[in-house]
Amino acid sequence: MPTDALTPGQRADVKDSAKLGLLGMPAANLVELFETLDEKPYRARQVMKWLYQRHVTDLDAMTDLSAALRKQLAEIATAELPEVLKRETSTDGTRKWLLNVGAGQAIETVFIPEANRGTLCISSQAGCALDCAFCATGHQGFNRNLSSAEILGQVVLAARELDTTAITNVVFMGMGEPLANYKNVLPVVRLLVDDQAYGLSRRRVTISTAGVVPRLNDLANDCNVALAVSLHAPTDDLRDKLVPINKVHPIAELLDACWRYAEGIASRQITFEYVLLDGVNDSVAQAKQLVKLLKGRPAKVNLIPFNAFPESEFRCSAPRAIEEFWRTLRDSGLIATIRRPRGDDIAAACGQLAGRVLDRQRVRLGSRVARTVGASSP
Ligand code: SAH
Repeated sequence: MPTDALTPGQRADVKDSAKLGLLGMPAANLVELFETLDEKPYRARQVMKWLYQRHVTDLDAMTDLSAALRKQLAEIATAELPEVLKRETSTDGTRKWLLNVGAGQAIETVFIPEANRGTLCISSQAGCALDCAFCATGHQGFNRNLSSAEILGQVVLAARELDTTAITNVVFMGMGEPLANYKNVLPVVRLLVDDQAYGLSRRRVTISTAGVVPRLNDLANDCNVALAVSLHAPTDDLRDKLVPINKVHPIAELLDACWRYAEGIASRQITFEYVLLDGVNDSVAQAKQLVKLLKGRPAKVNLIPFNAFPESEFRCSAPRAIEEFWRTLRDSGLIATIRRPRGDDIAAACGQLAGRVLDRQRVRLGSRVARTVGASSP
């Protein structure tokens, strides 16, 4: 049995299993868990309040449960957070946590404070298999999927260390491809928008994907939060090289899925991320090709100046090229913004998160991995 959650409908004899992880456990499964202990369903609500609203993970401190129940619960379940290996704060206020997820693997979580919001950027995998050419995490290779507890644990941990109201947005833009770990990411997304847990609006939770199209279609039905798509190139030829999953789900297929997705969300708009690489994808001609793809669609473009990392073979576009690219999009009527790098003095900017990925499977994304990714349905 997975230790992070009972699968739906499973009325297992939890007393005979390894300890269950309460963090990230779907509300319905928590209710079931209390039923197995002959307790009322409202116990689930109480525990969720402790975990997600008071950031308390010590079961013994959950004082509205009787001492006997707390003891019983602690025998079969745990709400342990990943150990913090390192905390760093940038001169611009960005904060980064390096978290131990066992067997020598470490992941990173970043908090980005802004005037009117605070964004927590969380990781979904130790490493990443998608091997995007310009990404530090991709260079590390892939080790494993994080459990729901490890993913949501990042939020609990950060919320505990920041002001209670500091986190207004959560983005899956840390290490890993969230839609390649759909089974464990979905329960977390649901808890982030569940009033009994974090109660964030769907517009304030963003899944960022390089384009795992089948799971994108699933997400539209399962929990249609805000969506960011890592496009990075206007043609399949170039995108095949920069974002290898494009060989499996090319631009036309990806965009079709995006437009369907947009119909079901309140903002009706998808963000397209486009990292600007000097001399690779930053010409005015390429900006015009991008306009052709997105014009008249529910799309906005977020241009990301490339953040360098050790061993990266690319350079960031010149400020003038960035400006011209942006102007070309804007003059054609597209909404486009330029993302200001945050926390680069502590290597916390987009694409710089490397954590520590050992025993990695150094997989170039060929059809073999793509099949695995596409087949990882919940
Ligand atoms: N796998 C997901 C989420 C992780 S990356 C995805 O691909 O969307 C979050 C964003 O940072 C993505 O748009 C990614 O392409 C971008 N990124 C990766 N490496 C970067 C780098 N070195 N500089 C700037 N942005 C980068």
